[in-house]
Amino acid sequence: MERLEAKHALHSGIFHPVLRQWQSPNILITVNNLMYPIFIVDEQDAKESIASMPGIYRYGINHLRKMLQPLVSKGLQSILLFGVSKHLKKDHIGSNADSIQNPIIKAIPLIREWFPNLLIACDVCLCPYTNHGHCGILNEDGSINNKASIVRISEIALAYAKAGAHIVAPSDMMDGRIGAIKNKFAAAGLMNKVAVLSYAAKFASGLYGPFRAASQSAPKFGDRKCYQLPPGSNGLAARAVARDVSEGADMLIVKPGLPYLDIVRRTKDAHPEYPVVIYQVSGEYAMLYHGAQNGAIDLENVLMEVLLSMRRAGADCIITYFAPLILDILQPKSKY
Ligand SMILES: [Zn+2]
Repeated sequence: MERLEAKHALHSGIFHPVLRQWQSPNILITVNNLMYPIFIVDEQDAKESIASMPGIYRYGINHLRKMLQPLVSKGLQSILLFGVSKHLKKDHIGSNADSIQNPIIKAIPLIREWFPNLLIACDVCLCPYTNHGHCGILNEDGSINNKASIVRISEIALAYAKAGAHIVAPSDMMDGRIGAIKNKFAAAGLMNKVAVLSYAAKFASGLYGPFRAASQSAPKFGDRKCYQLPPGSNGLAARAVARDVSEGADMLIVKPGLPYLDIVRRTKDAHPEYPVVIYQVSGEYAMLYHGAQNGAIDLENVLMEVLLSMRRAGADCIITYFAPLILDILQPKSKY
């Protein structure tokens, strides 16, 4: 047998758990790296399961405190809120996205009161509230009216900020919305009190299906390929990220996560001074969940591997529906 040269023997560096940890010193999953997406429906006592996302619910306001309490106790630090309109009237400009009836506007002050240290981000978009289900305001021919859309998006962002959101996260993908939101915040004296987390590189992915069922926000006609990035477009993704940085985004999202880790790495390398956030989307959740249910993979094992791959690619934070499970995995275990 050929003798292995000492410097090529890698096993000597990984035979003990502490040694293995030393091999990935900055690639850790902690409670700081997680954000939990939550659907809030405009029916205060509702708790609705979502068939395509087992384990995930649409919550009415009256369930939020009880649901969040154990998660906050386990270290949950940030949440991302999505409004779901079940009874509110939908119209062509999404009037109920920022009306006083809006479930997000109602929930934010309560969550701040119950959990004063919890960081609250709000998704900002028109699609849950428009009768056409698109993310912007449409022209008569069905095309996007970008100018009107970013005025409307910035109004909604301002309403969430005034309600007490720490972060607004515009997911509409209209051109110029980050600048429009920042200008609104500056005029309202909120520039230093609210962060803008841009869905900077959001791809037109086939992995959003379960989410659209959850938020009831699927477009009534057409698709979103005219405002979300084509999956192969790494050049355009880089332009989108650079554009949002130049307009004043505080943090950058790449969405989805696993099929776009090259974009995550490229974004982090191009803008190392900005936190990069991955949205592990509903389809990614469903694939892991069902893979484990069918006995093909061990959920905890593969989930942590996937999360590490995201951290290794450069993600500072991961928005994930698995947050409750991850918090459980991260709880200190007794050695005895
Ligand atoms: Zn949308």
